[in-house]
Amino acid sequence: MSSPITLMKKCTKCFCDKDRSMFRVKNDKPYSWCKQCENKYQKNHYHSKSAEERSAIHKKWRKKNPQYKDRAKARYSSEKRREFYNRSREDVLRASSEYYKNNKEHILSRISKYRKENKDKCSYWLSIHRAKKSMATPKWLNDEHLSQIKELYLESKRMSLIKGEPYEVDHIVPLKNDMVCGLHVPWNLRIVSRTENRKKNNKLVGGLLYE
Ligand SMILES: [Zn+2]
Repeated sequence: MSSPITLMKKCTKCFCDKDRSMFRVKNDKPYSWCKQCENKYQKNHYHSKSAEERSAIHKKWRKKNPQYKDRAKARYSSEKRREFYNRSREDVLRASSEYYKNNKEHILSRISKYRKENKDKCSYWLSIHRAKKSMATPKWLNDEHLSQIKELYLESKRMSLIKGEPYEVDHIVPLKNDMVCGLHVPWNLRIVSRTENRKKNNKLVGGLLYE
């Protein structure tokens, strides 16, 4: 050890001699572990916690550091988030579709786990979706129309498999929009990638009306 002793300190965790600035100081006393070792420990410690324990940690921190509350609020306000989304929508969508491609199995297993654990919620949303669809499904549709619709759903599943990204059946004129309500009929359906579909949201396309 060639440097002056006062400037260097040995970490009792990694046994490295490090500059004193590499140690956190509390009440004028440096920690015995260097910042790096401490961070590593904290990280592992944190990741070994359950979700409830983690949220308790966050809660405690927020209580101890109330000055960050408004800052976080200002930074993550819904307007700012929306503004960010509008500004970088393409990038967000591209990144999410990329993420889906790379983590498909993980995502699908998470979804099916969520569905199993939240059957009530899921069936509620499904029932609403069905009700909207059935209200929009005219009584005069014949068997051929119905099989055309079914075929579109099957085709969207096939395309998802082939293209490696999710494809959905989309209503060209949305079933529920502020101005008009589309119908659940073959000629109001088309297959689009989920990315494309999320871009459209609940707006009308095809030059009819665009908010
Ligand atoms: Zn260390």
